[in-house]
Amino acid sequence: MFELTSERKKITLLIPCYNEESGLDLLYNRVSKIMNNLEDYEFEMLLVNDGSRDGTLEKMKTLREKDERVSYINLSRNFGKESAMLAGLDYCNGDAAIILDADLQDPPELIPQMIEIWETGVADVYARRRSRQGESFLKKWSSHRYYQILQHLTSIEIQVDTGDFRLLDRQAIQALRSLREGQRYTKGLFSWIGYRKQEILFDREPRAAGKTKWNYWKLIGLAVDGITSFSVVPLRLSSFLGLTISAVTFLYMMFTILKTLIFGEAVAGYPSLMSVMLFIGGMQLIVLGIIGEYLGRIFNEVKHRPNYLISEYNGKKIFAES
Ligand code: UDP
Ligand code: MG
Repeated sequence: MFELTSERKKITLLIPCYNEESGLDLLYNRVSKIMNNLEDYEFEMLLVNDGSRDGTLEKMKTLREKDERVSYINLSRNFGKESAMLAGLDYCNGDAAIILDADLQDPPELIPQMIEIWETGVADVYARRRSRQGESFLKKWSSHRYYQILQHLTSIEIQVDTGDFRLLDRQAIQALRSLREGQRYTKGLFSWIGYRKQEILFDREPRAAGKTKWNYWKLIGLAVDGITSFSVVPLRLSSFLGLTISAVTFLYMMFTILKTLIFGEAVAGYPSLMSVMLFIGGMQLIVLGIIGEYLGRIFNEVKHRPNYLISEYNGKKIFAES
């Protein structure tokens, strides 16, 4: 009997949580039903508390007392979902990990299907949204446009309508762990590591409880991170823009000199001078801004700070590595 249990493959359900107090019980109930039904596998439910300001941590502790399959990591503050996921990947013990949102927008009922596909040798089973309920038209439209642009700018293939909801094989987990960059754009990293991928379709539900942590400001930040961490095309475009403007300006300069030589000088052209100056000034600021984005990334990377700090793992104090 014991022989049998040790041979079971272990699957970690990795769940980043930020202020999810109101939804955790619901989540546990739905997920444990699935875990109980899949007797051929051992499960670990790894909850990552990403510096919540509500009672999320206490909820996690209660769940762990109730069910030893539950584990939790308490980060020292809010590091953002991307870092919380990395922390989870670092601490997951499973042969595979399934990343789930705490708000039940990713239906756990898909887990058995994911595992089935994983058993055929796929390293990354990702769930693609068939529909997006409870999201505004503007959000859907802008996200669609954004992925089109991102796809054009980068050479790796980025899956559209796909979030972080996926099953990752041990191989993929190790690969993701080895990528220690800060300002992570995990969605791009999933593609970057390669390995065999397969999609399954699902309908994304509205949040079960609580509020979304994203606002447009944060989303724009994530969007910029996505582009700047996977592509230097904006820098190249800047050079190209500079070259084009210089060439046009040079031609215009020749034209002005010749005109002055032939027809003499008349003091005029203040409006055109002004508009050209403002145009070029604006262009320079934009290009500087683009360079600044990359410089900022370099600045953050060279500090080599850890991606996150953990204060507690299953009640045990964790110290930063030095
Ligand atoms: N989350 C997190 N840290 C954050 C923000 C969000 O761990 O700083 C978690 C959150 O608890 C949830 C998941 O990431 O489990 C997705 O967040 P949310 O539902 O707010 O995003 P949306 O579904 O609206 O894209
Ligand atoms: Mg959500």
